Amino acid sequence: MDMNEIKELYQKYVLPTYTRQDLCLVKGDGIWVEDAGGKKYLDFFPGWAVSGTGHRHPRVVRRIAEQLERILHVSNNYYNDVQPLLAKKIVEHSFQGKVFFANSGAEANEGAIKLARRYGNPDRYEIITMEKSFHGRTLATLTATGQDKVKEGFSPLPEGFKHVPFNDIDAFTDAVTDKTAAVIIEPIQGEGGINVADEMYMRDLSCACRRKDILLIVDEVQTCMGRTGEMFAYKHFGIEPDAMTLAKSLGGGLPIGALVVNKKFVDVLKAGSHASTFGGSPIVCAAALGVFEAIEEDDLLENVAEMSEYLITRLNELKEKHPVIKMVKGKGLMIGVELDIEDAAGIVGACMKEGLLINCAQKNILRIMPPITVTKKNVDAAIEKFSKVLKKI
Ligand SMILES: *Cc1c(COP(=O)(O)O)cnc(C)c1O
Repeated sequence: MDMNEIKELYQKYVLPTYTRQDLCLVKGDGIWVEDAGGKKYLDFFPGWAVSGTGHRHPRVVRRIAEQLERILHVSNNYYNDVQPLLAKKIVEHSFQGKVFFANSGAEANEGAIKLARRYGNPDRYEIITMEKSFHGRTLATLTATGQDKVKEGFSPLPEGFKHVPFNDIDAFTDAVTDKTAAVIIEPIQGEGGINVADEMYMRDLSCACRRKDILLIVDEVQTCMGRTGEMFAYKHFGIEPDAMTLAKSLGGGLPIGALVVNKKFVDVLKAGSHASTFGGSPIVCAAALGVFEAIEEDDLLENVAEMSEYLITRLNELKEKHPVIKMVKGKGLMIGVELDIEDAAGIVGACMKEGLLINCAQKNILRIMPPITVTKKNVDAAIEKFSKVLKKI
């Protein structure tokens, strides 16, 4: 099929909820993807970080292939022999607690919201989230999201959500009332434009939550699985959350979400209180075990540290030459390039023509999140392409 036929089918049969780039990807291998015409691209934004260990990572593919020979789906009224191994792995890499499996980031956050609503006194139902945050597109998670554009036309929205400025502890403590049940925060805001939480802020937030018995929930849907240099980003801050939500990179390309609940709160969601038909199916859990295996066995966290330093250095070199770049920010391989112009989308399109895939998080912010398997050679190739685009501005 050629591009025109594909686009025609979309126009006829697929709801137009997305703004799509003029690109149809048909193959992926590591950091490389290929379009329908056979052109190759260096993927520095692999599926919104879903293919965080690269496309079709061999360890992920092997685990999926092994599971394909056994069974694809087991419903949750039975046991399966993969789900608990993944839960154990997640807990061993985070904090003592238990895991609920869902299929996406929004669903993991829905679970977290239900946990907060159910915990303690029923009068306590308010959830505080951050301005510019993003937590998903279901009715509750879009209400939790601190950006008006996702809410337009969907009223009435569920009650009990309020937003405060990010990195402002006074705004948080002022917003707390007797009704506050939880706070949900991304340790690094992704959609909001790669905004990193201050270390002191996260610690103060954690203390404020402890004092008032408010659940501290970290949304690690985008930051999980080594993206920032730690398996989970909250670890940079010396805090322990009461719950954490995961998705995107966790499944190495397959859809999975997870709500990880600290041991203190594992009795809140009892049998019958929450469920998901597809949640924790053995095939997606096998893929996620492959992701953990890759990170552990191939020392990918070390690679993130090294490549982060190298990529940020190279981007800062470009900044010296091109005043259109105002600032390079972020942590690990979750990087934002703040521009002096409001045409990040135009630059993303120009990079695509050069064979480099990146993203724009806000009008003036480019988002760069290569697979955590990225090499120096890949970085050099990407910088060369990006530099060509910058020269034309
Ligand atoms: C992508 C994202 C979500 C939503 O995940 P879906 O899988 O699209 O539902 C939630 N929170 C954060 C921080 C995200 O980046």
